[in-house]
Amino acid sequence: MSSTALHDLGVAQLAAELRAKRVSAAEAARHFLDRAKAHQNLGAYVAIDEGATLAQARAQDAAIAAGTAAPLAGVPIAHKDIFVTRDFPSTAGSKMLDGYRSPFDATVVTKLAEAGCVTLGKLNCDEFAMGSANENSAAAPVGFDAPAPVRNPWDAERIPGGSSGGSAVAVAARLAPAVTGTDTGGSIRQPASFCGITGIKPTYGRASRYGMIAFASSLDQAGPMGRSAEDCALLLSAMCGPDPDRDSTSLDVPAEDFSAKLNDSLDGLRIGIPAEFFGEGLQDDVRAAVEGALKEYEKLGAKLVPISLPRTELSIPVYYVIAPAEASSNLSRFDGVKFGHRAKDYTDLVDMYKKTRAEGFGDEVKRRIMIGTYVLSHGYYDAYYLQAQKIRRMIADDFQQAFKSCDLIAGPVAPSVAWKLGEHGSDPLADYLADIFTLPASLAGLPGMSVPAGFGAHGMPVGLQLIGNYFQESRLLNAAHRLQQATDFHLRAPEGI
Ligand code: GLN
Repeated sequence: MSSTALHDLGVAQLAAELRAKRVSAAEAARHFLDRAKAHQNLGAYVAIDEGATLAQARAQDAAIAAGTAAPLAGVPIAHKDIFVTRDFPSTAGSKMLDGYRSPFDATVVTKLAEAGCVTLGKLNCDEFAMGSANENSAAAPVGFDAPAPVRNPWDAERIPGGSSGGSAVAVAARLAPAVTGTDTGGSIRQPASFCGITGIKPTYGRASRYGMIAFASSLDQAGPMGRSAEDCALLLSAMCGPDPDRDSTSLDVPAEDFSAKLNDSLDGLRIGIPAEFFGEGLQDDVRAAVEGALKEYEKLGAKLVPISLPRTELSIPVYYVIAPAEASSNLSRFDGVKFGHRAKDYTDLVDMYKKTRAEGFGDEVKRRIMIGTYVLSHGYYDAYYLQAQKIRRMIADDFQQAFKSCDLIAGPVAPSVAWKLGEHGSDPLADYLADIFTLPASLAGLPGMSVPAGFGAHGMPVGLQLIGNYFQESRLLNAAHRLQQATDFHLRAPEGI
């Protein structure tokens, strides 16, 4: 087959081409590496190592030739630079980890490699996954000498979303067939929505966090991002499963074949529509696209049921207390002794800690460490942290109440389409507020996904968010797949791609 069409294939089709030896894993890898180079102005990749990628690809070609190929043998993917990898540097978008090499692979990376995937490189993200626009990265993208913005392929003057911005851009611009991301408060769903691709965050604990550089451990969860639900299902099946020796919060729930129920009928499916997701803050263009998708669901036999998630607004203060609290503890390991950056000139140990951390962390990370330390400190713990934990429980309970009358929940992913680079300037609250619709499912540990639902203002993509009850990933993917059978939003490519 002609290699020009390779980047338009879905993961399943590409895997079939590879197994039938119509294209080799090495050819596929080279094709995507060439595309990554041709579109490096988008800033998606932060590390590429052709030698390492081609060595992995040749090993997959050998397995295919020997008839021992795993299901995704030779499918090239790329990882958010929050997963540690032996073959590539791992920086989490931070100066603190500039040039850091992990001696081991994250479990998710290992599992995808065991499924036959070949790693194309590492993808840009907000520093330690803190952000909503990928504007907090300290990494210089491939082809740049200094940090440069990650650009949305639908409009290069707009942000791709965050924190998995590089991941979303790589898929939207066809620089990888599918990728990994992580979602602590929306970082898979929101960039997927802003870049017109599909992404799913599974139930908290389904995918191992081992080797995922920690931000907020009770929220962090890995998931796939691809063009379609079908592609996401294939990757998710490979990524999930218990990891008891390495991640104590990984659940003892076996991996599942998430592709098995993609085509199930939606007849009689009850889709809950939370009133709080359609209030004042929602932009009209996003509302119109989301309502269009909901109409499609009605045509497919689903019933829309009004529900309430009364504490939606509180998810912002609750998340921005709990996540920084956990971050302040997790990031204490970056002290100049154990990994990464160490200040050059210092007088004693404490001075070394101070200078290392002052130099190594960016503004947003410092802000969160300070907030986190404050809310955990004696005298404030009860007023902020404990209070936030109580409301977190109530938010989770609200979902259980809602799931009594519906099978899944649908609404917008974000209140608007992707904003302009620099538009939120130095106002972190503007970014925090835009997380309102993704935070509730994160706080409850529920699976959530973003599915392309159309286009809004400035021709920018709009995502529909689907939220399921615990372990309902198959149902989410089924609903997403059926919508994608009825619409073509996920197949459209940005101009010039
Ligand atoms: N935007 C949210 C934050 O800044 C979520 C980030 C994430 O999910 N990693 O914390």
